[in-house]
Amino acid sequence: MKFVFLGPPGVGKGTYASRLAPKLGIAHISTGDIFREEAAEGTELGNRISAIMKRGDLVPDGIVIEAIRERVKKDDCRRGFILDGFPRTIQQAKALDRMFRIDMVLNIHMPHDILIEKISARRVCRECGDIYNVADIQRDGIDMPPMLPKVQGKCDKCGGELYQRPDDKPEVIKERLDNYNELTKPLIEYYRKKGLLHEFQARTGPEKVIPQLLELLGKYKR
Ligand code: ADP
Ligand code: ZN
Repeated sequence: MKFVFLGPPGVGKGTYASRLAPKLGIAHISTGDIFREEAAEGTELGNRISAIMKRGDLVPDGIVIEAIRERVKKDDCRRGFILDGFPRTIQQAKALDRMFRIDMVLNIHMPHDILIEKISARRVCRECGDIYNVADIQRDGIDMPPMLPKVQGKCDKCGGELYQRPDDKPEVIKERLDNYNELTKPLIEYYRKKGLLHEFQARTGPEKVIPQLLELLGKYKR
């Protein structure tokens, strides 16, 4: 089972992928998490990546593709994976085509104003990357209760400190969305033409969404 989760920053790709992958026995591969780890290590490459991420720009294709090539070699990918945040450019998608046959691309949608509100309210565990959200959104047919930790400011999974990603601040959000519209959105057509695209409207919190997606993705079990 090999899936790509597509959609703008903050749409829920990471939340969904991190909950679905263990249930399906496949790996959750988040290029954002990989680069945040690299940045935290403070290597020369890490520092370069960190500067790019802080601006909300994309890491160069060559670096991203190499990171994926290495990641998919790991044992946990034997039965498949969910790619969360990769590919983000046509060049990356073409590189992926040369590596694997993808089963399905899930294109996750959310209204623009809700997206902005959700990104600004996102909190992430500094240690394990677990995702929380303090926004309570109930309007326009949307029912997204907050995703709060049991203890305020602390990760449920590992007790790590929750923080707001520097690129989740308003100035950087705009840059990231511009980059999404210019560079990543063309992938929707790219995968539609291949017959792989499945559209999904996010209207409720993960409690309701996860069972729906589990059924959908489970159909690709071999
Ligand atoms: P989000 O989906 O909320 O924007 P991610 O954690 O997926 O956040 O990505 C954070 C940052 O990591 C991006 O803004 C970008 O700088 C970098 N990044 C992640 N994946 C890629 C990719 N496939 N290509 C280029 N840059 C990437
Ligand atoms: Zn944690």
